[in-house]
Amino acid sequence: MRELALLGATGSIGRQALDIVRAAPDRFRVRALTAHSNADALFALIREFRPSVAALCVRPDVIPDDLKGVDWYFGPDATVQAVRAAAPADVLSAVVGIAGLPAALESLKVSDRLLLANKEALVTGGSLVMNMARDLGKPIVPVDSEHSAIFQCLQGRGDNAPAALWLTASGGPFRTWTAREIENATPEMALGHPTWRMGPKITVDCAGMMNKGLEVIEAHHLFGMPLDQIRILVHPQSVIHSMVEFEDGAVLAQLGVPDMRVPIGYAMGYPDRVPFRGERLDLARIASLTFEEPDTARFPCLRLALEAQRAGGSTPVVLNAANEIAVGAFLNGRILFGGIARLVEATLSACPGGNIYSAEDVFEYDRQARAVAAELLKRL
Ligand code: NDP
Ligand code: MG
Repeated sequence: MRELALLGATGSIGRQALDIVRAAPDRFRVRALTAHSNADALFALIREFRPSVAALCVRPDVIPDDLKGVDWYFGPDATVQAVRAAAPADVLSAVVGIAGLPAALESLKVSDRLLLANKEALVTGGSLVMNMARDLGKPIVPVDSEHSAIFQCLQGRGDNAPAALWLTASGGPFRTWTAREIENATPEMALGHPTWRMGPKITVDCAGMMNKGLEVIEAHHLFGMPLDQIRILVHPQSVIHSMVEFEDGAVLAQLGVPDMRVPIGYAMGYPDRVPFRGERLDLARIASLTFEEPDTARFPCLRLALEAQRAGGSTPVVLNAANEIAVGAFLNGRILFGGIARLVEATLSACPGGNIYSAEDVFEYDRQARAVAAELLKRL
């Protein structure tokens, strides 16, 4: 029986993690559940899973009488406080955005393992997170499907360092669209992902391939791999979730139906696999798997992300901040899809790079970049 705190419980990953708990109630005990502002959804989950600790960043008007016995935390630091109070064996962080970075760092301090879906924590604070994990001897188990695939392919590798990591990408809903069509796409068009059902921010990131850029940065930190040994392969069927190439030319891949509950369950049960009655892979029915090179001309966000990580220092923090502002503006109807890449590029040009020595530096560069992006947004 493993005790678990689930951060971002009301989201896409959070809810699917709770499906795993439902499927194996004898293996997991939920100690804490957190959300940002969706109080009613969190109340319902608390009634079902009975955690002793809960948190909401936005304090609701009332806490129902039957939930008053829970140890509640509210406000901007509520997620971190809940992690500290619960101090469970495992923390699964499914918060979206850099907002999850403080809780990721706190989880490494108080828990045995961090199961990480919140890729923006690594994009912005990757060196800090990985150094802390190494210094404290705490494992980080990836939840993101590509990174879970690579992590699975690396089991039993012995002393053999991988020669390259291959991240697959579905290509998203605009894979076959012209640059002009992509430029003018609306939120409704971007939210129709062909193979995965996810929260709104990552769905928009996928449509512009920013997500794959963020995932290259995530893989660089998680697996200590130089950027030029991380390759991207567009694979529209989303059956091969990623691959590892070794020195002898052998390539190991992890395959399966595109169901996030598989990598989530793998992280939760690691090193054991949790039996799960999801759909099974039927390769004869799928019949063919296809592959393409990524196209950074039509998907400039991918190029911007890779350039930002090459520049290093505060630049990935600026990239992430500008992207969070741009995706929000796009989802609110303020800009069309092409405006996302333009705002990110303009913010990167306007923010001078700097070094990062501490989490406070990350939050300061993030704050500055958000202010610059908000100002540039008025002129788009
Ligand atoms: P969702 O938007 O569906 O859910 C986000 C969750 O985080 C919600 O519970 C939300 O609470 C909470 N939250 C939002 N903002 C804050 C904040 N500022 N502080 C604390 N909690 C907050 O996102 P997803 O589940 O899609 O994604 C979560 C993370 O996992 C992202 O980093 C994403 O990139 C990554 N990921 C997601 C995949 C997917 O399939 N969805 C696949 C791979 C990675 P509330 O409901 O109250 O707003
Ligand atoms: Mg992914």
